[in-house]
Amino acid sequence: CGIVGYIGKKKASDILIDGLKKLEYRGYDSAGIAVLDNDQDILVYKQPGKVVNLEESVDEKVEGKTIGIAHTRWATHGEPTVENAHPHKSNNQEIVLVHNGIIENYKFLKDELIDHGFTFLGQTDTEVLVNYIQYIQDKHQLNIDDAVKKALQNVNGAYALAIIDKKEPNKMVVTRKGSPLAIGLTETNDEFYVASDAIPIIEHTQSLVYLNDNEVVVLERGQKMKITDLYGVEKSYKVKTLDLNL
Ligand code: GLU
Repeated sequence: CGIVGYIGKKKASDILIDGLKKLEYRGYDSAGIAVLDNDQDILVYKQPGKVVNLEESVDEKVEGKTIGIAHTRWATHGEPTVENAHPHKSNNQEIVLVHNGIIENYKFLKDELIDHGFTFLGQTDTEVLVNYIQYIQDKHQLNIDDAVKKALQNVNGAYALAIIDKKEPNKMVVTRKGSPLAIGLTETNDEFYVASDAIPIIEHTQSLVYLNDNEVVVLERGQKMKITDLYGVEKSYKVKTLDLNL
């Protein structure tokens, strides 16, 4: 029900958990975060219940990790268990994803993936999506942003997504259709904030971009944010400057 993301140079887990607390008002049944750094495995922490439970489960391994994604879940497919909580990893353990919304054609995609040997730990539509992205990436040898675009061409439903691929640890991919998502920008482009609404972002930056449906954003440290549609056509965007004194 809520998404937070961070890529930059600060300790990601603090920003993520603090952001999840600010989204608690939206309601949820479980919470989780994933963080990583260059050449390291993706660390995932998730817990049913409150964000404070999640916070208590996080250990010292999160130190020095400066990219991550976070989620509060309102279950639509599958019980509120640890297995069904987000973030979800792909079978090859390389892609990790958080999702708000519902993938309508997940059963069809799941059957196709099972035919190709994929296995599933839980019942969510989201776990199908992360594995479908892996399947498309492997099949067509694509980088993560192109794999996400190509996969989503075959996905029906509503989603806000934040995705990291450990093979490209300097990059986060963010997209939405029907579920809200905002990006917080900084002047030097060395860090970016992502959230379901402005509240977790405004204490860090007042420069916001609200995504439109079917826009895919690539956030890379030190580079200007890039937005395209699902077919790679570049899109312009307007930065909104929030005036907190109003
Ligand atoms: N459909 C997904 C699930 O049940 C995401 C729900 C949400 O928006 O939190 O896990």
